[in-house]
Amino acid sequence: MMKAISVRGTVASRISLWCAGTVLALGGGVASAAGVTDAMIKNDAVTTDQVLTVGLGLHGQRHSPLKTINAGNIGDLVPAWTFSFGGEKQRGQETQPLIYDGKMFITGSYSRLWALDAKTGKMLWDYQHRLPDGIMPCCDVINRGAALFGDLVIFGTLDARLVALNQDTGKVVWNEKLGDYKAGYSYTAAPLIVDGLVITGVSGGEFGIVGKVDARDAATGKLVWSRPTVEGHMGTFKGKDNGITGKTNASWPGDMWKYGGAATWLGCTYADDVGLVYCGTGNPAPWNAHLRPGDNLYSTSTVAIDVKTGKIRWSYQSTPNDHWDFDGVNEFIPFDMDGKKVGAKADRNGFFYVIDRANGKLINASPFVTRQTWASGVDLKTGRPIESGNRPGDPSQASGEKGESVFSAPSFLGGKNWMPMAYSPDTGYFYVPANEWGMDIWNEPITYKKGAAYLGAGFNIKPLYEDYIGALRAIDPRTGKIVWEAKNDAPLWGGVMTTAGDLVFTGTPEGYFKAFDARTGKELWKFQTGSGVVGQPATWEQDGVQYIAIASGWGGAVPLWGGDVAKKVKDISQGGMMWVFRLHESGADVAKN
Ligand code: CA
Repeated sequence: MMKAISVRGTVASRISLWCAGTVLALGGGVASAAGVTDAMIKNDAVTTDQVLTVGLGLHGQRHSPLKTINAGNIGDLVPAWTFSFGGEKQRGQETQPLIYDGKMFITGSYSRLWALDAKTGKMLWDYQHRLPDGIMPCCDVINRGAALFGDLVIFGTLDARLVALNQDTGKVVWNEKLGDYKAGYSYTAAPLIVDGLVITGVSGGEFGIVGKVDARDAATGKLVWSRPTVEGHMGTFKGKDNGITGKTNASWPGDMWKYGGAATWLGCTYADDVGLVYCGTGNPAPWNAHLRPGDNLYSTSTVAIDVKTGKIRWSYQSTPNDHWDFDGVNEFIPFDMDGKKVGAKADRNGFFYVIDRANGKLINASPFVTRQTWASGVDLKTGRPIESGNRPGDPSQASGEKGESVFSAPSFLGGKNWMPMAYSPDTGYFYVPANEWGMDIWNEPITYKKGAAYLGAGFNIKPLYEDYIGALRAIDPRTGKIVWEAKNDAPLWGGVMTTAGDLVFTGTPEGYFKAFDARTGKELWKFQTGSGVVGQPATWEQDGVQYIAIASGWGGAVPLWGGDVAKKVKDISQGGMMWVFRLHESGADVAKN
């Protein structure tokens, strides 16, 4: 058995101690029509006095038109306030804060949420979700942010529930089940609000769950449609059958599709011009691909779902019959390229894809990492990878329990993992937090058992180079060329943000929050936050001041699954802190905050 499972067991066993004191509050009234509207959410990318969506807009471009802070004055950026997440629950903090009506909403490790005064950091209320024993988060007890609608703040929890709280009081308004946590379902992504629907995925691909995308009435939590992302499973619309996903047994053998994975664990983006929700799907289960010959749709894909009907309009599979846990969950970011309506995705498998967002046609695919052992390229005619034959051996053909081991790059933690890239309409570049690492991987026999790891694989992750693993890379989507890169010793695990001030922001496990020149990649500013940064930046303007926020708190999948790389980062201090920055005007002025 893998080391990671024993580490995970330790985490889960602590949860009962740490969460026993909290009580779930129920009731609190119905969401009013006032507050955050669909129109405001659709406009979020261009409004600067609020941040209503994780991703700074439904496209998830993570770009702000603000330029008060820019390449010329970034040296004057200083802390305005900080807030400690407190307690003993200092694990990975992968959240992005939301800002509305003078309040900041932050989610934290162990399914916690805080409302703060956005100008001063003063806590207004907090919510600590009561987690049951036996939850099975695969990759740390993290959360990646909330969603706002009406007077509600909505977020998902590690026991696979979706909870809506009143923005002013923190009282629970509704609380809905997304999946059975005892079967391995959990939830860590930020929900997406489109046309009054709250759109969510699920986590649990390492336990043989069945991936899906749900749309609920955001005001009440009532399910409107559900679309499974594994071939053979029935979708629903308002409680009625809504057609099977794909065609049963077309790309899956026998009964393997019944526990087929394809977890939608990173959530979705949306493009209003085509009415499509874009959700990435994870690995087919189990990892041992010898047990499931075929493409295994719709795993490791971008799935485009019609938000009105809950049906798949198109899909693009980046890693057919995935053998390396190359979850294709990575965010699909709609943008316009030379007048064409397209989208881009930097996949865990190491390729950067540009795809027509209306019909799913592949336009371009190019590597964004230095080494790919599994494929030499992507055939633009068929859209399929040109495989190099570097698959682990079949254990059923070997004499022992273990099949032949191969060395694969990228590792299963990916050329890029969950941490979102950003786009700048000013430079036309994407800024990709990439990692250079490989793994020994081999297969073992496995059968499905509810609530148990369903991998049939063993592995050990190794760095490819001595001097760096992480590399923030500016990529021109027209050519696929890397325009500049900024290397980092430890693997990058935090989100990226661009601003009209020609700045690119991201954090490092070494604890730095950094700003780069968007055109040249020159590092212009850095600040030591006291713990590793794996959060997602946000920026807004309030009373004429531009603020920039980032969560600090080391954790996530690398320390749990990283093999030799985990050893490299084992001494990083844990934490849990929101840092907010502004331009320094005078010492007295900053002190007043
Ligand atoms: Ca996976």
